[in-house]
Amino acid sequence: MNVKSSLLLALCIGLLALAVGCKKKEPEPQPAAAAPEFQWQIDQFADLRILRYQVPGFETLTPAQKELVYYLSEAALCGRDIFFDQNYKHNLKIRHTLDAIVAGYKGDRNDPRWGEFMTYVKQVWFADGIHHHYSTDKFVPGFDADYFAALVKGTEGAGLPLAEGQSTDDLIAFLRPLLFDPAVAPKKLSQDSTKDLVTNSAVNFYEGVTQAEVEAYYKGIVDVKDETPISYGLNTRVVKKNGKIVEEVAKIDGLYGPAIAKIVDWLEKAAGVAENDQQKKVIETLIAYYRTGDLKKFDEYNILWVGDLASLIDFVNGFIEVYDDPLGLKASWESVVNFKDLAATKRADIISANAQWFEDNSPVDPRFKKKDVKGVSAKVITAAMLGGACYPSTPIGINLPNANWIRKDYGSKSVTIENITYAYDQSSLKSPFGPEFTYSKELLERAKAYGPLAGNIHTDLHEVLGHGSGQLNPGVGPESLKNYHSPIEESRADLFALYYIMDDKMVELGLLPSIDAAKAEYDLQVRNGLMTQLTRIQLGKTVEQAHMRGRAMVSHWVYEKGKPENVIERVMKDGKTFFVINDYAKLRQLYGKLLAEVQRITSEGDYEAARGLIETYGVQVDQDLHKEVLDRYAKLHLAPYSGFVNPVYTPVVENGRIVDVKISLEEGYVEQMLRYGRDYSFLPVR
Ligand SMILES: [Zn+2]
Repeated sequence: MNVKSSLLLALCIGLLALAVGCKKKEPEPQPAAAAPEFQWQIDQFADLRILRYQVPGFETLTPAQKELVYYLSEAALCGRDIFFDQNYKHNLKIRHTLDAIVAGYKGDRNDPRWGEFMTYVKQVWFADGIHHHYSTDKFVPGFDADYFAALVKGTEGAGLPLAEGQSTDDLIAFLRPLLFDPAVAPKKLSQDSTKDLVTNSAVNFYEGVTQAEVEAYYKGIVDVKDETPISYGLNTRVVKKNGKIVEEVAKIDGLYGPAIAKIVDWLEKAAGVAENDQQKKVIETLIAYYRTGDLKKFDEYNILWVGDLASLIDFVNGFIEVYDDPLGLKASWESVVNFKDLAATKRADIISANAQWFEDNSPVDPRFKKKDVKGVSAKVITAAMLGGACYPSTPIGINLPNANWIRKDYGSKSVTIENITYAYDQSSLKSPFGPEFTYSKELLERAKAYGPLAGNIHTDLHEVLGHGSGQLNPGVGPESLKNYHSPIEESRADLFALYYIMDDKMVELGLLPSIDAAKAEYDLQVRNGLMTQLTRIQLGKTVEQAHMRGRAMVSHWVYEKGKPENVIERVMKDGKTFFVINDYAKLRQLYGKLLAEVQRITSEGDYEAARGLIETYGVQVDQDLHKEVLDRYAKLHLAPYSGFVNPVYTPVVENGRIVDVKISLEEGYVEQMLRYGRDYSFLPVR
């Protein structure tokens, strides 16, 4: 979440429903035990890899359950255009042009510039727009504007998105600055709070309005006395019409109507084959929300959704996370269709069943602990389809809903997406990453033996317990920490996990085979926060993304505080830097100490302390070390970010009814993107 310094937010302390949900992102490569041959990685370009994920257990679903997965999957794909359009107002026009060229260009495809062009297209597909999904910087094409013009010309008559009366030359002239002028829409999401966050962000949640105008607008409509407030502005676009500020509401006959109509069609079919009445009600309420755009209906839907614990199949579909809005109000459209991994969920059940014990025994000041931990429902899931903001780059853990009062009164659902994590681990089996950045053979062996398991337990603890732990003082809300809320919240959840993964309770509960597994996780986290996550940042830039800031802050803090006792040692070997943990028990104490402080900051809404921690430990980068890490990383020829192609589901129809659904994992990245562009483009091009 990216809540920025906003007067409005400060005034609505504790009452505005802002996201406290979390999406844990992809882990760094780590060695794992080998599994049968399967081609996990199918493409690599720029700083990206494309992987496949398997859907274990799909075959064992009943025909009715498969049919439900199929309908929900179609609904997940129908919102693709929405996310493209949200990211930048010209993304759809650009994507249609790129798709047309890839499908229809009649010229020479062996020209080296064609290769550069394809890299660019794949990047745009990956980011759902022309800005990098992580750094949010506009992509720089590896070919020039003249070559692009030649490509468009060579594609005439093959589905270019020409507006009425627009010539191919007009289209080229229109697109040229969007793609090639670095001054046009340079950043999707501006984090520079000294400037207007709204007008300096290319993201398409606002049009023709300033940050001050948006803030004044919401100040005027937010009911600060409402203890169950709607998530103001979550599903809207703020625009100026005839000098007046209005909200365009996403709904079946409003903003994004044509795509929402398709989503609703599939949801209606899904409701018809729901597993039980509760789930049917969940789907019907979501449909009612899509028909009206009424955020009260959305809350109603969320409450029903949190209460549905019986269904095997589950899904997210809607305007959910606010990370892409510089003001933290507007949600990006996303979808994940999944079903419960029953065996692995036993693990999360154990953690969940002991939630109160963990809360009671944490090193946090008793004043900031929850007396009664409720509603922690955790499960391990198998993703079956990813859509919108979850595709192709996808979370490995999700915790929803985001509205604070719903979480407090009705609880939340926390999931770990195990088949995605498994794909990451398996695709990195032979990765040279671990050997390069691990200090010794012994440590590497330990990482191999325990890394993936410990990583999953860390995610469970982070999602199931971490985010749900602790309580806020009256009058304090997530807005209190403004732009430091997200990194502080992520570090809080991480610290909770780090503190407890080293606890004897883990072995006692049968979650870890030995405390050595926890040590493997400490090795990884320390290395990541101090050094290896820098592989994702360009030289000269600072740490920006919330999870990364949180991890950097935690690791740098414990490194500095442990220096007198040499808890973590910086070692040079063969001219390379390593960070080696000398005292795991002391490190755990430091994690506990920092957890207590971060919880205090959160509970009291201590903005200055949050700013101090993040700015001192979480943002700046040691330039020499950064350069060394990037040099070492470059020699490995790896890509720091991964995304996934989806499976293809094909219904088997007999006498007009679906009797089975076949799954195929064969489709390639380019094939899939072109097919989605063909079959799931419902929004008009602006
Ligand atoms: Zn989190």
